[in-house]
Amino acid sequence: MATIALDPRLDKKAADFIAQKHRMYVDGKFVQAASGKTFPVYNPATGEIIAHVPEAESQDVDQAVHAARRAFDEGPWARMSASERGRLIWKLADLLEQNLEEFAEIESMDNGKPLSVARAADVPLAVDLFRYMAGWATKIMGHTFPISFPGEFLAYTLREPIGVVAQIIPWNFPLLMAAWKLGPALAAGCTIVLKLAEQTPLSGLRLAELIHEAGFPEGVVNVLTGFGEGAGAPLAAHPLVDKVAFTGSTEVGKLIVKAAAGNLKKVTLELGGKSPAIVFPDADLDRAIPGTASAIFFNHGQCCCAGSRLFAHKDVFEKVVEGVSNIAAKIRVGSGLDPQTEMGPLVSEEQFQRVTGYIESGVKEGAKVEVGGKKAADRGYFVQPTVLTRTTPEMKVVREEIFGPVVCAVPFSDADLDRIAREANDSIYGLAASVWTRDISIANKMAKRIRSGTVWINCHNVFDAALPFGGYKQSGWGREMGAEVLNNYTEVKSVVTAL
Ligand code: ADP
Repeated sequence: MATIALDPRLDKKAADFIAQKHRMYVDGKFVQAASGKTFPVYNPATGEIIAHVPEAESQDVDQAVHAARRAFDEGPWARMSASERGRLIWKLADLLEQNLEEFAEIESMDNGKPLSVARAADVPLAVDLFRYMAGWATKIMGHTFPISFPGEFLAYTLREPIGVVAQIIPWNFPLLMAAWKLGPALAAGCTIVLKLAEQTPLSGLRLAELIHEAGFPEGVVNVLTGFGEGAGAPLAAHPLVDKVAFTGSTEVGKLIVKAAAGNLKKVTLELGGKSPAIVFPDADLDRAIPGTASAIFFNHGQCCCAGSRLFAHKDVFEKVVEGVSNIAAKIRVGSGLDPQTEMGPLVSEEQFQRVTGYIESGVKEGAKVEVGGKKAADRGYFVQPTVLTRTTPEMKVVREEIFGPVVCAVPFSDADLDRIAREANDSIYGLAASVWTRDISIANKMAKRIRSGTVWINCHNVFDAALPFGGYKQSGWGREMGAEVLNNYTEVKSVVTAL
């Protein structure tokens, strides 16, 4: 094995965890892969190896699914009261909160994001999500119905857990995505096999330790590390899995749908985006300029809802582009663990190649680089925050999801909201949008016209555990969070009694 290089700025707890021999969590035990294989985990700020984790394959997936099946069909979990389930989820939230600093450091080290962001956003949002879902455990219920069939009947519905759930998550918010997936499934009473992203498995493995410590019965949550084809694909296809919940690329989302078809698993998908941020001429530019800059540069643009198409009215276009470019030029790019850092590296070499490749293709097709456009350090996967103008609607940089800190700024000259909305909606995606204006009538008319799962008005990237999140069109199926997500983890049973 290659030598492990850990950053000396890490506290002892996070450093000790990252340096330990990592195991997956299956049936209440910490285990190696059946094959004994492992794969390396990298520090994206340096490209150095920081850990090795087990490489799950079909046999490990099968064991984890059987454990989840047993826990669902036979274990104490199904007999547990909703209140007990809720308390376990709440306890997990407490444990996570008690270890906030350690999780923030692990996340920053593994994913590259600034430690300050992991501390202020990723970990507390995950804690909050678990607490919100803990409350729902006791509030999942059916209805009674006044049915008109001849005779006298009592008719009601039960909402029951959907069963064994496969959950496959990406690397952009590793811990938070695990929480978004686990929280509602646990509240509903499902059992779970969670496959972490191969680029960022560490916070999920640490979370497995807390799940164990919280006292969930064995087999209720199983956590695997492995690659998409080796572990994700057999999990999505497994005949004993009732539902698959996936977050990742639209391309892989389509593979998941095919894999799930064998036993007609229920499927929910949270996929890509190419979200427009639309600035009207009356917008408060002191808010709209930093707001639209943050819409694209937050998390290095590695957000499915990143505001990657910036539409600004021609009267304010130059000012908006200049303002966003000035912000981009001043963003301090560096290691996530450096307290001065405002933007870390991209997550991986592959992602670095992909994002720089998109910038090159944009330039080749005639786009102008207003700022950025280059790699930002000699080692590590750093890319400068980049603003492109003079793009056309056919360019790849405008049509495809880049998933990096690259925004295409486009002027519009229209006053016709339908036409503006048509341009904003000209995408295979429909995840999110933001509208920047002082006119509440324009704002709300646009909110109606935009075909996406979220529309933010004078803000972007505002999330809450209570608020449904998900996509229209090829951005996905179903919703995460809020009461809405519980529909995705429950079946409805109608019960009719002749009286
Ligand atoms: P990204 O392009 O952002 O890395 P992916 O969609 O490739 O996103 O990956 C998201 C998650 O899907 C990861 O956990 C990855 O391992 C998993 N994955 C990739 N390919 C497959 C597949 N064919 N079947 C199931 N899961 C997959």
